[in-house]
Amino acid sequence: MVDTLITNGILLTIDNKRRIIYNGAIAIDKGRILDIGTTKALESTYSSDIVIDAVNKVVMPGLIDTHGHAGHSLVKTVAENTRDDWIPIMETFYREATTPKYWYIDGTLSALERLKFGVTCGLSYLGSSARTDDSVYALQHIKGIRKIGIRDIVAVGPAKPPYPNTYVKWENNLPLQIQASFNHNLEVTEQILLKIRSEKDDQLDITMSPPTLTVGGIQDVPELREEIESMQEMIEKWNMKLHTHAYTGQIKVAHEELDLLGSHVSLAHCTGLSKEEIQILADTDTKVCHSPSARSIIPIRCPVVELLDAGVTVAISTDGSAPDRTFDLFKELRQAMSLQRHFFKDENIMPPGKVIEMVTIDAAKTLGYEKELGSLEIGKKADIILIDMMKPHLVPFFMIPHRIAYEVSGQDVDTVLINGEVKMENGKVSHVNELNILQKAQEEAQAAISRGGLEKYLDIPKDFWGHTRY
Ligand SMILES: [Zn+2]
Repeated sequence: MVDTLITNGILLTIDNKRRIIYNGAIAIDKGRILDIGTTKALESTYSSDIVIDAVNKVVMPGLIDTHGHAGHSLVKTVAENTRDDWIPIMETFYREATTPKYWYIDGTLSALERLKFGVTCGLSYLGSSARTDDSVYALQHIKGIRKIGIRDIVAVGPAKPPYPNTYVKWENNLPLQIQASFNHNLEVTEQILLKIRSEKDDQLDITMSPPTLTVGGIQDVPELREEIESMQEMIEKWNMKLHTHAYTGQIKVAHEELDLLGSHVSLAHCTGLSKEEIQILADTDTKVCHSPSARSIIPIRCPVVELLDAGVTVAISTDGSAPDRTFDLFKELRQAMSLQRHFFKDENIMPPGKVIEMVTIDAAKTLGYEKELGSLEIGKKADIILIDMMKPHLVPFFMIPHRIAYEVSGQDVDTVLINGEVKMENGKVSHVNELNILQKAQEEAQAAISRGGLEKYLDIPKDFWGHTRY
């Protein structure tokens, strides 16, 4: 007897040989893949009380979203038309208008969205503009994610300088202003790490998230060097990984002046990199999370093909979900292909197989989990998704990797297993009350927008209709 048997599926394994097994089966026991092969072979060897019939379904590794933002789900599209002001508006909102309840509900909503789109492991970036004045915000967010049950790496670290940062704590609906120094931010980060690590939950970890990789002219800001050194000390002490945003010019300083880069580091966006910076990333085995829907790539591209050609591990990520995107990684695959093909004026760039790797095995490598996640192989964790192919846009279902890269969307995900446990079946998430989560998210978003005075940003802006730009 095994815990679960998946039978009759088309297995897109992403193993070393990139095998596709028709009429395939997977035996799952104690949260891991025990065996994989044809249905005939596995049915003659194993039996189980839980048999998932995957006829007309593609069975593939759960997707891994290496960069999305905690806190964004309740403010989707709010203030999206305010051009460069969006970031300061949201930074002020997070610091002054969010409560522990906000972070809990945002955790449930974002994890539920990811689960339904087949993302079994996400990174939630809670650094930079979010709240590290008190551990309660991150811990409530994590509680929300745990309620849904996806795997998550929460990136936490000191908020942006200048210090001390000003925050607002809400007590009995009354705002109370507080200040937090860099050291306080870092102590809170350590508290969160120690709490989560002490719980020995293999579905959750904390990664260090500096507010920015560097800022220009580090020589002129001596305290910045000290701050980065104290984050480095914590990374080494607790064997943490490092994840943050990075842009052109920062890579060289981070490497040459601060010795920050390495195989434990993943950097989001990485736009406008020079050839020298690409080579630094390759030489240091630093990973890149490319979010093709991010607004930062509009003025200047992320050199994805050049990075891959130089041997850098690049994952495709959502940068979900504000101001203008979702956690649907399937959509991001196409966006990534399209951007690079347009740039090089070449439709042979970024084949379907490569982009699928970039949300499975390469994404696992980006987060340091390639031995446990990212492919369907014996011994790996049973994080598995089933895609229903009996739909007009997916039939005929031959050329499976092509179908996945070009036509499947998050809504086609039918069944999701994480650690071998069924978290969604036939599109239904039965271990939580989905409707209740959605209603609470609607209520909390409206309450938070009113606390932050953002109502005006919900209106249709000037020149929205009938104009080529606003
Ligand atoms: Zn981002």
